[in-house]
Amino acid sequence: MAQCRLNGQMISYTVRRSQRAKYLRLEISPLHGLQVVVPRGGSLSQIPAVLQRRAPWILRHLQKLKKSEPPSQTSLLLQEGQQLPFLGESLTFRLLPLSTASSRTVPGEILQSELRLFLPSSHPAWNDLRQRVLLVEEVYREEARKHFTQQSHYWAQRMQVTFHRITIKEQKSRWGSCSRQGNLHFNWRLMMAPASVVDYVVVHELAHRLQMNHSSAFWDIVRRYVPDFEKHRRWLKEHGHQLWH
Ligand SMILES: [Zn+2]
Repeated sequence: MAQCRLNGQMISYTVRRSQRAKYLRLEISPLHGLQVVVPRGGSLSQIPAVLQRRAPWILRHLQKLKKSEPPSQTSLLLQEGQQLPFLGESLTFRLLPLSTASSRTVPGEILQSELRLFLPSSHPAWNDLRQRVLLVEEVYREEARKHFTQQSHYWAQRMQVTFHRITIKEQKSRWGSCSRQGNLHFNWRLMMAPASVVDYVVVHELAHRLQMNHSSAFWDIVRRYVPDFEKHRRWLKEHGHQLWH
């Protein structure tokens, strides 16, 4: 983490190299704070001048971030040792110091029935619950990306259908969707549901590759691969709202 002085205030920032960036740009997010995105092979020497030039914008947005309300309705307490639901099992939440300057892309991992967050000693999430929630969500999203990709490939092969792209989203109104182009969207909060429910959602969306509707022909396809799908549908209706807490 680097620092600079803008209008008399010390500001911390990180530098991230991006393959796709064409120009040097600035990003501000609740998760990462101020990030300077540098194109591959781009020079770092211009950073101080850019930060000075954009100082009013940076200070305004950092101030806004401080004041903003928690972005999600997650009310997980996230105390050390707390249990978190994950595919029908239970994970123990751990908060661990990150000793070396690691370049992790995800702030944590799920291993041996634990969800572990790794934080540098100066990280605000040690004391800030909202920051912790965001980091845990990021771990869940990453796991969702892996799990849904794996399961979609598995079921697509069995069902002899194809799909295009998988996107992980958070849409309050839906668990998954399938576009006409074959793009699949899944809600990461499903990772807190039992694995069989997640499978049902994957099969449901892939069945739309054959039937772009909810006709009886559609449900026949779903039933062929998940005979007890009604049970999982009911589970989502009755318990789905709990995945939002
Ligand atoms: Zn549907």
